Amino acid sequence: MNNGRRIYLDHHATTPLDPRVFEAMKPWLTEKFGNAASREHDFGREAADAVEAARVQVAGLINCDESEIVFTSGATESDNLAIKGIKGPRNKIVTVATEHPAVLDSCAAVERAGNIKVARLGVGLDGLIDPKELQAAVDDRTLLVSVMFANNEIGVLQDLPAIAALCKARGAIFHSDAAQAAGKVPIDVRAMDIHLMSLSAHKLYGPKGVGALYVRKRNPRVKLEPLIDGGGHERGLRSGTLNVPAIVGFGAACELARAEMKSEGERLRKLRDRLWEGLRSRLDHITLNGHPERRLPGNLNASFRYVESESLMVALAGIAVSSGAACTTAKAEPSHVLKALGLPEDLARASIRFGLGRFTTAEEIDIVIERVAGAVKKLRKLSPLYKGPR
Ligand SMILES: *Cc1c(COP(=O)(O)O)cnc(C)c1O
Repeated sequence: MNNGRRIYLDHHATTPLDPRVFEAMKPWLTEKFGNAASREHDFGREAADAVEAARVQVAGLINCDESEIVFTSGATESDNLAIKGIKGPRNKIVTVATEHPAVLDSCAAVERAGNIKVARLGVGLDGLIDPKELQAAVDDRTLLVSVMFANNEIGVLQDLPAIAALCKARGAIFHSDAAQAAGKVPIDVRAMDIHLMSLSAHKLYGPKGVGALYVRKRNPRVKLEPLIDGGGHERGLRSGTLNVPAIVGFGAACELARAEMKSEGERLRKLRDRLWEGLRSRLDHITLNGHPERRLPGNLNASFRYVESESLMVALAGIAVSSGAACTTAKAEPSHVLKALGLPEDLARASIRFGLGRFTTAEEIDIVIERVAGAVKKLRKLSPLYKGPR
C-alpha cells in the first residue's frame, strides 16, 4: 500500500540524529572515553574541554552565558528541576493548562507536598493565554510562572516577551519549556527576560537522553536546590558523571540549528503551507487547530470531521503522524491540549498532528496529501453522519 516507503512526519515526538551530529559524537563514544570530572589527566581534561565547548554552543543558541547552562538528561528533568528546585518566601506557581506533562505533573507534585498553590490558566480556541487572565493571576505572592515557548501538539507560540515583562514587574521568576521552540525559532533569553529555560537535544536533531536547564545568574540570580545529590557536578545542581558523547552531540546540534534556522524555517513553512493547501483543496470539513500564524513553521494540527483519527492513522500505514500527544497515547482520551482549546469532542477525536522536519521533502508532502485525502474520503463513505460529496 505504501510501496514499502516510510514517511516520518512526527518531529514533535522526536527528530532523527543529524549525520553531522553523529560524526561529532563518534570519537567520544570510542577512543575518547575520559570522565570529564577527572581533570588530573589528559583523558579527563579533553573530555572536560569538549563539554565546555558544547556548553558554549548551547548557550549560543539562546544567547546566554555558558556558565548559565546546566546539562541534564532532557527537558523532562529540566522542567522538574526548575519547578521543584525553586524555593522562596512566595507560595504560588502560575502555569497553563496546555503545558507538557513534565511541567503539569511537576506543579501537581509541589502542590501535593504542601505550601505551594498552583494556578492553571486556560487558553482560547487559538491556544493563546489571555493577557488579562495572566495579569490577574500573577501577583506579589507568585514565586514562579511557567509558560512553554511553543506547544508540542498545536505548535502555538505564546507571547513570551509580554509574559516576561509582567513577571519582571511582579518580581516572579519566569520559566519556559522551550523543548519544541529551540532551534526552530529565534530565542534570546537576555532580551526576552527569561530566567529559567528547558531544552532537549532530541527535539533538534541531537541524541536522546540529554538536555539543559538555563539558569539565569544576574538580574535576578536564580537560586535552585538540586534534585540529584552526589559529586557536585554542574555547579552542584545536577550530580552524576556527564554523558560526554551526548553533550558533544547536543552542542553540535545547537550550532547547526542556529546556522540553518532561518533558511530551514522558511523551507518548512512553505512545505507546511503546501500540505495544508493540498488537503484543503481536496477535502471539505477540515479545520486547523491553534493559531493560524503564531505557530512553529513545521507544525500542522488539523481535524478531519466525521473521521476518527485512530482509524485514519491505521489507513495511513507507513506515514508516521500523531493523534493527540505521543506521551498520552496509553489513554484513548482526546489530548488535554485539544480539550483546553475547548474543541468539541468529535473534532478533538478527529485531529492529526503533522510534524515536518529537516529531512522532509516536497515529494513526501505530495504523497502525504494524496494518501490523507484518499483515506479521509474512504472513511467518510462509511460514516452515517457525513452528508458531503462522496
Ligand atoms: C519532548 C518534550 C519534553 C520532554 O523532553 P525530554 O527531553 O524527552 O525529556 C518536554 N516538553 C516539551 C514541550 C516537549 O516537547
